[in-house]
Amino acid sequence: MTFDYDLFVIGGGSGGARASRISAGEYGARVAVAEESRMGGTCVIRGCVPKKLMIYGSQMPKEIEEARGYGWVDASVGPFDWPMFRDKLNRELNRLEAAYTNGMVNAGVDTYKSRARIVDPHTVELSDGTRYTTKHILIAVGGRPALPGIEGEEHGLISDDLFQLERLPGKVLLVGGGYIACEFATILNGFGCKTILAYRGDALLRGFDEEMRDHVSSQVVNSGIELRVQVTPKRLEKVGERVLVTFDDDQQEEFDDVIFATGRKPYTWDLGLENVGVKLGPNGQILVDEWSQTSVPSIYAVGDVTDLVNLTPVAIRAGHNFADTVFGGKPKPCDFSQVPSAVYTRPHELATIGLTEEQAAARGQVDIYSGGFRPMRSLFAGSEARSVMKLIVDVETDLVLGCHIFGPDAGEMLQMVAVAMGMGATKADFDRAVAIHPTVAEELVTMRKPVRRVGEAKPATLRHSAVS
Ligand code: NDP
Repeated sequence: MTFDYDLFVIGGGSGGARASRISAGEYGARVAVAEESRMGGTCVIRGCVPKKLMIYGSQMPKEIEEARGYGWVDASVGPFDWPMFRDKLNRELNRLEAAYTNGMVNAGVDTYKSRARIVDPHTVELSDGTRYTTKHILIAVGGRPALPGIEGEEHGLISDDLFQLERLPGKVLLVGGGYIACEFATILNGFGCKTILAYRGDALLRGFDEEMRDHVSSQVVNSGIELRVQVTPKRLEKVGERVLVTFDDDQQEEFDDVIFATGRKPYTWDLGLENVGVKLGPNGQILVDEWSQTSVPSIYAVGDVTDLVNLTPVAIRAGHNFADTVFGGKPKPCDFSQVPSAVYTRPHELATIGLTEEQAAARGQVDIYSGGFRPMRSLFAGSEARSVMKLIVDVETDLVLGCHIFGPDAGEMLQMVAVAMGMGATKADFDRAVAIHPTVAEELVTMRKPVRRVGEAKPATLRHSAVS
């Protein structure tokens, strides 16, 4: 049977764009992409890119404060022009969206600005009713913010809304304790908003290394954000222009804006998946194997819609591997067992890879190397902010099982650690590296003695099954 296309991709975000560009541009496949919103997807349009620019923008007053500490005594920060910044940000996003579209078009991909649904394992329908047949379908529609399901939640905002605000809120409540809550609290606080972070748990960033969670929580408080733990809203009401929040301890308070950062869920509804019987997991995620193949052989899925590791580079890698495997004759399974990531808080960010101390200790006996210090640059300017580095090392094999960095540019440092760990680096390998002095990163190769030994010695078979 001849098909209109070799590949029809639903979703023009990070994963879909990469898969389509490589399939068409490098391997000559006939490819189409349908995108209902803007090419570039969450990361480019309403996620990583605008978020990081906002982090930079929001920290300028701190940089100027630091300049004063270096003798630029007149350095001062005037008023912040939010509309100017927002409009410039949107122009940059338009540029990136065009670059994404051009990248696909130049690779020979047909692009459709439309929602698409699956009709059968080889047919896709656009919102105007046009149908295309295709040998393969790739679902790369990402995730959408998940709201907590409380009364009046429609009066709250989600992270997508932040990049378009008419005005910055004077007083804002962020709800949640994950990546987005921490980063947006950092941004809004930096822009001068009175920022309150309400988290239902007891320390931010559940799932991260406990020691590092404490450092992030302390920094959040020290930076002027009001952190309220073990409390969460149960009702929102509109009062004039403001929002009245009733918390689960029955306290009430008004805010200019309330922002929910309560997780995201796979965007699998109304895609026609029920027409073809693609199997979903309990969170609504599309279940895939290591080749990104779903339960229907002609249909694949990559990125947040699979809810594996919800990070842009993971979606890009899965999209690329899909193209190499299906069209390039170079089968590449996906292995996301060791993915680095960073949470862009300020002044220090948290970057992490591999096992936490708690996970490692549950698996076997590990030595913890940890060093805390005040980085030279900020110390000289008068800051007490401490940076912390942590290596988790298997006692039996000397393998570095985890690395956690809380410090300036932690993400930049950790990227290189990810290379070393991917090669199976041992602590002895770290020790052999000569330090670059004076840097923050040199601490990683100069931690001589473990601060503690945790976990119990276990046979290798048990060590590998204790933690998934
Ligand atoms: P996360 O899953 O990281 O955090 C969600 C937070 O919301 C948790 O603290 C959770 O609490 C809390 N929460 C969930 N449901 C409720 C509820 N009903 N009421 C109150 N609180 C609730 O999600 P985010 O929204 O922060 O981020 C979404 C995804 O985006 C992440 O998976 C991440 O991978 C990605 N991302 C990555 C970034 C990066 O790489 N720098 C930046 C931004 C996003 P609890 O801990 O108790 O479950």
